[in-house]
This record gives sequence, C-alpha cells and structure tokens, in this order.
Amino acid sequence: MGTLRGNWNYPTLIRFGAGRIKELPDACKALEIQRPLIVTDAALAKLPMIAEALANLRQAGMGCDVFSEVQANPIEANVNAGLAILRSGRHDGVIAFGGGSALDAGKAIALMAGQTRPMWDFEDREDWFTRVDVAGILPTIAVPTTSGTGSEVGRASVITDVRDHTKKIIFHPKMQPRLVIADPELTVGLPPHITAAVGMDALSHNLEAYCAPFYHPMADGIAIEGMRLIKEWLPTAVRDGTNIEARSHMLIASSMGATAFQKGLGAMHSLSHPCSAHYNTHHGLTNAVVMPFVLQWNRSALDDKFVRLAAYLNLPKPSFDAVLAWILDLRKSIGIPNSLTDIGVPTNAPALLAQSAFDDPSTGGNPLPMTTQDFATLYGNCIRGTL
Ligand SMILES: [Zn+2]
Repeated sequence: MGTLRGNWNYPTLIRFGAGRIKELPDACKALEIQRPLIVTDAALAKLPMIAEALANLRQAGMGCDVFSEVQANPIEANVNAGLAILRSGRHDGVIAFGGGSALDAGKAIALMAGQTRPMWDFEDREDWFTRVDVAGILPTIAVPTTSGTGSEVGRASVITDVRDHTKKIIFHPKMQPRLVIADPELTVGLPPHITAAVGMDALSHNLEAYCAPFYHPMADGIAIEGMRLIKEWLPTAVRDGTNIEARSHMLIASSMGATAFQKGLGAMHSLSHPCSAHYNTHHGLTNAVVMPFVLQWNRSALDDKFVRLAAYLNLPKPSFDAVLAWILDLRKSIGIPNSLTDIGVPTNAPALLAQSAFDDPSTGGNPLPMTTQDFATLYGNCIRGTL
C-alpha cells in the first residue's frame, strides 16, 4: 500500500498516518500548550485511547484533564460545562478528541475561552464572526476518531439550540484547529453501522460541495478525488474495520469533504439538520437516507456535472443515472435504510420541519433555488422513500 503517511499544511497542519497519536505531547509543545484540556464524549472517555493520551501528556509534564460531558448533537450546556472546567483548571489549549460532536464542542469551548458575549452572538450570519475577540480564542488540536464530519479541518461548530430545536453554526475562521493528528488506527474500533453512516456523511460533503453552483475549481478537484476514495474504500472499511488501508483513505476522504464544503453544501444538509435537532437522528445516517432523493430533485442542474463525475469514478455509461445507481447500490450494500420513516422520522415532519430546512445555511448552496414548499415536498419523498 505504500506509505499512507504525510505531514501536510493544507488546509491546516495535518500529521497523517497510523500510530501518530503518540505525537500528541509533541504537538502540544509545537503550539506552546502546557495545560491541555481533552474534550471528548462519555463513551470514548472509557476507551484506552483516552487513558493512553492522558498518560502520555502527563508523562511529558503537562497539566492535563479530560472533559467528557459532550452529548451526540451537542448543546450549549455542554459547551458551558466544558468552559467551566477549562477556566477552573487554567487550561491553555483544547484537544478536541472524538467524532463530530466532540470535535465541534471542543472547538466551541476553545473559541469561547476568552469571550464575554454569549455563544449565539457568533452564529454564522452576516459578519457576526467579527464580534469575536480573536485574542480570546485558545489553540485547538483536533484528533478525529470517526471518518465523517471532517470537523478537524473545519472553521465552524454545529451546536443545537434547545430553545427552538435548531442546529446553529458557530463560525470563526480561527476556529479551525491549528494542528490535526489524523491517525487511522483510532478509527479501527468503529462498528460497521457507524462506519457506514459517517462514511456517507463524508460522501455527502464531497458530493454537495461538488454540486454547489459556485465557481470554485479547487474545491471541485478535492471533492471528486474524495468521492473516488469513498467509492473504492468505504465498502471495505464497513466489511473489515481492521483494514488500515481502507481506514486511512476514509479518514482523509472525510477531511477532504470538509475542505471542499467551504464552497457550500445543499439540501441534503438542510433536510438533515432539522431531523437531528427534533428526533436526534444520526447526522451521517440522515444524509445517507436523503441523498438520492435530493439528487433526483436537483437532476436538471446536475446532468452535465455528473457526466464528468461518473467518468472520473469509472462508472459505466457516464451520466446522472450512473451516479444515482452507484449511490443506491452503495447505500444498499452497506446497510443504509431507504426512507426517513425507517429511521424514525414521523409522517407529520414535512409541515413541522420545512421552514427550518429552508432557513438552514446549507440551503444557499443547493444547485436549484428552494422554497419552503419545495422542502415540504422533498421531505415527503424522503419519508415515503420514492424517487
Ligand atoms: Zn455533514
């Protein structure tokens, strides 16, 4: 397999390769962090990888602690609880360690460390990010343990606002972690159904970025190679979680998705965010379910682009239909359910969620302009499971 290892500064410093979690103390030194706070979730906190990281940091003489009260689809209370620990422990940096929820919570805690305004003042609207006191942001090291969100290279955190059941994007360019340790060995223990769901999230990022109707050839280039890696390696990663080659390619494909989606996302994420906020459905799984219905909806805007994409993916008879057939096959082969009903979204959801979907910041990147009524119709297709 050659050496699937490298040091990259794109889009941030990335130390990529199996076993590189050992470099965590050195990474802290490189950023002059002496008292890191590890932010993770409760399940991960019980695994040896966190205990080992903590031991290595302490052995290197660092005053390190673990905060693990981060729930799936994190809420403001999680960020505030972490902030209290960060401040009382006089921590000078954050190690965001885990899947998307832990990474997003960790990045938000580091952002909020030195702010006086409430977090919702930094929502990704107009120029609200300019309200941030940049000097008050602590450096973050990101250690992804799933291969999906790509939050390790992203400049935002998605936090659920429990007051109105919406997922809000907290954004600042300097929320991008300063350094990433991307170690595929950390993803080996992910069970097949999670590997499948997060892998489809990575696919949705590359795919929606590629479909977004803006001029951004750099993002498009990253997105199509990200999709090729997922096509080649996601089924293997689901079938044989110990295959480090597959795990390596999925881990970088996930970072590539988040790099590409600086260009934009689209209706998959617009539909998915309200489902997770209301019914706590898994983000990646929800995207995987809605994916073919959204593509079919946008078909008229995608025909030409998908001829090129299908050719690059080496699909027979390159066309929109070839890409759609590949995605339907892939979903089936890795055990993704077909409809939103299958994952517990009720039949009255369209009326309830369509407005939130329309308001979602991802909507602006959809290839076709959308209305609230369009989203209600599209939700209906996803609930019935009809293309
Ligand atoms: Zn996503």
